[in-house]
Amino acid sequence: MSIYRLISLLAGVACCISSLRAQEQHPASCRTPEVMQEFYTLHPEEATKEMTARQSSIRELKSRPTTITSEPDTYHIAVVFHVYGTTQGGKTVDDALIRGAIDKLNEDFQGRNADFNTVHDQFKPLRATKNISFFLAKLDPEGRPTTGINYYPEASGFANGNGYDALVQADAWDNYRYVNVYVQHDIFGDGTTFNSGVAYYPSSYMSDNKLARIVYNGAYLHTNTDPEFASVLTHEFGHFFNLIHTFERGCTHPNDEVEDTPPCTSAQGCHPSESANLPQNCYGDLINAENYMDYNSGCYKMFTRGQIKRVDTALYFPSRITLWQDSTLASTGLSRPTSIAGSDDRIGNEFKIYPNPVASHITIRRNSPTPYDIQVFNTLGQAIHRSRDNRSTTHIHMEDVPPGLYYIHISDDSGSTVQKITRL
Ligand SMILES: [Zn+2]
Repeated sequence: MSIYRLISLLAGVACCISSLRAQEQHPASCRTPEVMQEFYTLHPEEATKEMTARQSSIRELKSRPTTITSEPDTYHIAVVFHVYGTTQGGKTVDDALIRGAIDKLNEDFQGRNADFNTVHDQFKPLRATKNISFFLAKLDPEGRPTTGINYYPEASGFANGNGYDALVQADAWDNYRYVNVYVQHDIFGDGTTFNSGVAYYPSSYMSDNKLARIVYNGAYLHTNTDPEFASVLTHEFGHFFNLIHTFERGCTHPNDEVEDTPPCTSAQGCHPSESANLPQNCYGDLINAENYMDYNSGCYKMFTRGQIKRVDTALYFPSRITLWQDSTLASTGLSRPTSIAGSDDRIGNEFKIYPNPVASHITIRRNSPTPYDIQVFNTLGQAIHRSRDNRSTTHIHMEDVPPGLYYIHISDDSGSTVQKITRL
């Protein structure tokens, strides 16, 4: 697609969204297409470069050369929040709120949201989740301990594609290691405070220049608003990993470059009851009104398989692939079992650890009476069990831990070993 055509398309979308906003003042309008248009107008060469880079990444992904890190069990990604004013629209923005917002974000991406199973029957088979886990950075760019949350005096306007770059850059942390989220109440600096958020699509230019970002209204963070509307943050992270609105470019398949999301116009509404049908699009198909990338903020519930495939690809873009590499995680403070105790697997053959997967308890058997330490970690590197033992058979109860992947780390004076276990 030519740059002219791209810009024309984006300009068209911007026009439609502006008129929608004028009529409805819809608080979920995130204006990502508009700010991307502004950016590409200022840097037309970047539109071509980014498209070339994406195509190249997709080719690399398909062939999976050994130089690319193999797919991890979970894509851990560090996030830093820059908060401008601790009261936004009369709502408090503090550490507890931000931590809750990250939890909600992870719930949505991982399909642990409470309404995941209430998706309309037609779209249940299309639901997809992502093994991605965002965490607040524990080390800052200089390697000092941090909460991953920085507070500044009140400021506004950082969502704009132009005019605020120096301010955005001044507070940014390395865009190749941290997702930077700027929390402001008036994100466009135009006196309106109902805009919820904006995110920029992947761009190496932006990451090179410390401009890659999500800008979000603190009044709409979970739990400053209801749980459905709070998923607008999930919508913005969707953009950050290259997802497009399901209504982008109108009712022309595949308008959002995803095969399984029916094209639609924005915010046609949720289905009024579990038995009622969803609104239809111009082809007479039901629309996926409950999709995070639509504007129906009263019923945000799901991504589709096609969208998650697109996120998968974006994770390997040059501007995103560094975010989840082991070296990045070490420098942003995520401790994982192998780095906590430095597993050397010298004693792996001495132990039998079973069953895997496990429903109730894990059995650990060893013939030698030498004392050994047992630690069980979740995928965030948090220890959920620690004990010391010297019996030939011991049990670790797993009934009370959530389903998922765990690491059993065993060590003694002569070495250590790690085994992955899935709790059903
Ligand atoms: Zn959006």
